[in-house]
This record gives sequence, C-alpha cells and structure tokens, in this order.
Amino acid sequence: MTDRYQAVLLFGAPGAGKGTQGELIGKVPGYFHMSTGDMFRSLDKHSELGKVFHDYSSKGELVPDEVTVALWHQYVHAQALLGIFKPVSELLILDGIPRTEAQTGLMDQYIDVLGVIHLVANDRDEMVKRLSRRAMQQKRVDDAREEVVRNRLDVYDRETKPVLDHYDPSIVHEVNAIGSPGAVLGEILRVLTPIHEHRFANCLEV
Ligand code: ADP
Repeated sequence: MTDRYQAVLLFGAPGAGKGTQGELIGKVPGYFHMSTGDMFRSLDKHSELGKVFHDYSSKGELVPDEVTVALWHQYVHAQALLGIFKPVSELLILDGIPRTEAQTGLMDQYIDVLGVIHLVANDRDEMVKRLSRRAMQQKRVDDAREEVVRNRLDVYDRETKPVLDHYDPSIVHEVNAIGSPGAVLGEILRVLTPIHEHRFANCLEV
C-alpha cells in the first residue's frame, strides 16, 4: 500500500460542475486533473470497451465497477509512465471516481484520499437545465434526453452519494456549486491549498 497515489476527490451530482472546475484546477501548477468521463469518451467508439461505454452511458447508467477501475488504473499508470502526470510534484484531482461503494473498496488499493470536495447543488431543476445546455454545446448522448438526465441524477442519489460515508467527515469539505465558475473555484482553492501545502511540505521540486 506504500505507492498509492495521493489524491483529492472532486465529488458531486452530474451538472454540479465537476468537469468545469476540474479543468480549471488542472491549469493551476501542482495539480493534475483526471476525469473518468473524459477517459471513457477518449476510447475508440468501435473498440469493445468503447461500445460498452456507449451502451451504459446512453441510458444514463454507470459502466460496471471492475471494468471501470481496471481501465482507470491502466490510464493513470500510463500517464505517470509518460510523465504527463508527475506524482512526485502534482496532486491528483480525481473527478468521477469512485462512484459506487464497490469502486470505493477497489480504489483503496490504488489511492490515498487526502480530501474530498463535495460540490453541493440541491436545485435539481437547475441541474437538468445545466445538463441540457451542455448537451447542445458538447453533443453528449447522455445529456440529450431529459429522461436520461433524470435517470443519471437518480443513479447519483442511489449509488454515488453513499460513497461519501466511506470517508472520515474531517476530510470531506462541502462547497456551494451554485455560483460563477470563478467564485466556486475560489472556494475550492481555499480548501485545496492547505492540503497541497501539507502534502508537498518537504519536497523541493514544487
Ligand atoms: P457526469 O459528471 O455529468 O455524470 P461524466 O463525464 O463524469 O459525467 O460521466 C459520463 C458517463 O461516463 C457516466 O454517465 C457513466 O456512464 C460513465 N462513467 C464515468 N465515470 C464512471 C465511473 N466511475 N463508474 C462507472 N461509470 C462511469
């Protein structure tokens, strides 16, 4: 368990802004953002895994746990090998994993969770509106139909939210997701900065 990646989880319902915020945080030196949604979307659509992803995501369902964690592990390992992700100087910001209780157990062998940022957005209608906007901008099959969007929000409540109970409440930080991207980013960095400073306190490379 010694060479687990130290990570902070970006947590929240579809539409809460994990992707937007993750991308912004990833531009700040010392942070590496990794999204499982992006990982899946980067697969060749005609490959076996690409087809599996399409089958599940087009219904608003999650890809099975074992497949997801195995792919994620290969993905992070490849990026570390190629020097795209530098674990010695960058804090891993995980967006979209773990997303079920089973994934949480499987991921424990690979990651040491230093903090969880929970983007809280209780306004379901606002979430549906944000996701419909995104569907038009990014042509995403999983956001295109309202019933699929609503199913994704149900899956989140049923399967993903319980993941939060796995972590010590002292490392779970709630951030209000309703606000301008800059305002939300400011709040997130207020939480992340001390975690980052503590993590790299004795490293000269950062
Ligand atoms: P959102 O945050 O809006 O739900 P994502 O881009 O994170 O969107 O994910 C898109 C789709 O990718 C999900 O609906 C699901 O099918 C699949 N997916 C992403 N992460 C996971 C995961 N950890 N486990 C299973 N499926 C996942």
